[in-house]
Amino acid sequence: MIIRLKPEVSEGKAKELGEELKSFVVRENGTFLLVTPTKLKELDSKYSAFVKEQTVFHDDIQLASKKFISGTRSIKIGKDISIGGTSNNSLVITGPCSVESEEQIEQSAQLCVKLGVKVLRAGAYKPRTSPYTFQGMGIEGLKLLDKMRKKYGLLIISEVRDSTHINEIIEFADIIQVGAKSMYDHGILKACAKAAKPVLLKRGFGTTIQEFVQSAEFILSGGNPEVILCERGIRTFETKTRFTLDLCGVAYLKEHINLPIILDPSHAIGYAYGVPDLARACMAMGVDGLLIETHPDPSVAKSDASQQLTFEQFTKLYGSLSAVAAAVGKKII
Ligand code: PEP
Ligand code: MN
Repeated sequence: MIIRLKPEVSEGKAKELGEELKSFVVRENGTFLLVTPTKLKELDSKYSAFVKEQTVFHDDIQLASKKFISGTRSIKIGKDISIGGTSNNSLVITGPCSVESEEQIEQSAQLCVKLGVKVLRAGAYKPRTSPYTFQGMGIEGLKLLDKMRKKYGLLIISEVRDSTHINEIIEFADIIQVGAKSMYDHGILKACAKAAKPVLLKRGFGTTIQEFVQSAEFILSGGNPEVILCERGIRTFETKTRFTLDLCGVAYLKEHINLPIILDPSHAIGYAYGVPDLARACMAMGVDGLLIETHPDPSVAKSDASQQLTFEQFTKLYGSLSAVAAAVGKKII
């Protein structure tokens, strides 16, 4: 149950009631919400004096539900841009899988500037499947991203691999990316809940929509209202492509969940040849953004080489996306 307390209820009283009802206390524009265990379906009348309204839920999706907020939450990224809310913005994000060198990330930043892409992506801490492959440049990579941010005025998204370096990511990134393999990491989720930055939460490739959104609930109930969901493909019996992009799941999320959705066709298919068609199909879903991997020379990329687009391929794709976006009432930013 979500209980919206009356505006005159003080923080101290909200905390006291929160303890009594074993609830999360979430601040919302100076007023307080109590998010109780979902099994609470009725509230004792002794609380009536404090309660403005209450909403009952039937599963553990509460704050992310459209039953709580009927539209899509508006998420501010950096100072000037936002997605969701009443905007029809669709944010296209690009950059390499990993920061590999200053030259490589500078070329990527220049591509963004040339095309008008506002958010540069690249991982500095890579959650790799094998310990014998490139694990990322770490803090040096983040500093290079920060350099690009300052030099070109780009916004940065980079992923947190574990909770030991979450503060570095919070400091340097404008959007904190939680990778598919980290979707269940409660150290990360709880740290993200305390961060004053938007979080892009990727769906674990072996998780249901329910589990995915429940991970988002950890961040929301912990105090950070700015969560963006990212569908990046799930594991199915199919092996010809790397993963299977769950567009049915995206339709479900759009209908029932109040968080913006960004789609990642690159990690889903795993092969560059399919990314442009898939990206257009994603845009046709009317989503809040796309995340597409690009590299100055994909053949030498240190991670995800097979799926990164060349700058030429991306430029062509980018040019074709506006018409698709317009057809579904979206505008690329
Ligand atoms: C990435 O974005 O480079 C990445 C590792 O993605 P995922 O967590 O979806 O595998
Ligand atoms: Mn990658």
